[in-house]
Amino acid sequence: MQPFFEQHPLRFECTGCGRCCVAGDDHFVFLSAAEAEAIRRHLQLSPRWFRRRYLARLEQGELVAASGPGGRCVFLDREEKCRIYPVRPLQCRSYPFWPEVVRSRTSWQREARRCEGINRGKTVATGRIRNLVNACMAAEAD
Ligand code: SF4
Ligand code: SF4
Repeated sequence: MQPFFEQHPLRFECTGCGRCCVAGDDHFVFLSAAEAEAIRRHLQLSPRWFRRRYLARLEQGELVAASGPGGRCVFLDREEKCRIYPVRPLQCRSYPFWPEVVRSRTSWQREARRCEGINRGKTVATGRIRNLVNACMAAEAD
């Protein structure tokens, strides 16, 4: 059976509220090595300082963005804006079109409680959603 997003038009318009950049205990911003390096270059930091100040490793060894007080992403500035927006990782670029979010109406509506941009604004082209879902799945398989 086709996933929910293939059968129903989905609307989304980001309001810039920044809520998705403040994680709960079990949410992390995962980074590939290439994404981390692109961010480091964007911020023009030395590898050592960037590693110590901005990155963390989970128990299984996954690379993630460090989080600050209250679970704020380390890249979120005081004005609630992303400091690395042009080079933000796939996880952020693809939100909220993650495979586990767009697979069913229930998961989409559940996520809408967290993100006020869901079900707002214009319909997003199905092809664009499909590309993002596929990119997430490819990254997961790496
Ligand atoms: S929670 Fe949704 S509306 Fe708010 S910044 Fe994140 S994507 Fe945009
Ligand atoms: S990298 Fe930027 S967009 Fe992604 S969670 Fe952090 S502040 Fe938000």
